[in-house]
Amino acid sequence: MNFAGISLEKFIAKQSKNNPDTNTKDLRKRLLKGLQDFKAGVKCRCGNDLWVIGSSYLGNGCFTCLTGESDSSGDYEIDKALPKNISALEFLPTGNYFDDDGNELNPDLHPKPTLCLSCKKDGIKEEEIVCNLTRLDQLEEKEFICFAYENKY
Ligand SMILES: [Zn+2]
Repeated sequence: MNFAGISLEKFIAKQSKNNPDTNTKDLRKRLLKGLQDFKAGVKCRCGNDLWVIGSSYLGNGCFTCLTGESDSSGDYEIDKALPKNISALEFLPTGNYFDDDGNELNPDLHPKPTLCLSCKKDGIKEEEIVCNLTRLDQLEEKEFICFAYENKY
């Protein structure tokens, strides 16, 4: 039961090549939502970790519940949602962050998106790791998207 890891951008490129009608902006949004849910510790109704790619098409669920199969060998999963079955905090025990090439990222060096400044979760210690991951995942993106945002006003 091993997924084949693929980066978000590669997966989107692959999908739009296979299916030129793909709305890449919408797909990116749905994948980011799944990824953010996964990192925030949202689980499938059966208790297993979410399959982010499948969840982006079918709604949140694990591979087995979404496909009815137990062997995910050869199926893709976004690399940032691998490995499965460890909690978001075990993921990053030291609070260090790395990009896809293994370079360490320092969240303090990147300005916070303006969206974050009006969010209830800004400055809350327990939310910080997930918030940093969300921001660091989108350093290259023109538009910042967050599904955990809650207006504090
Ligand atoms: Zn499940």
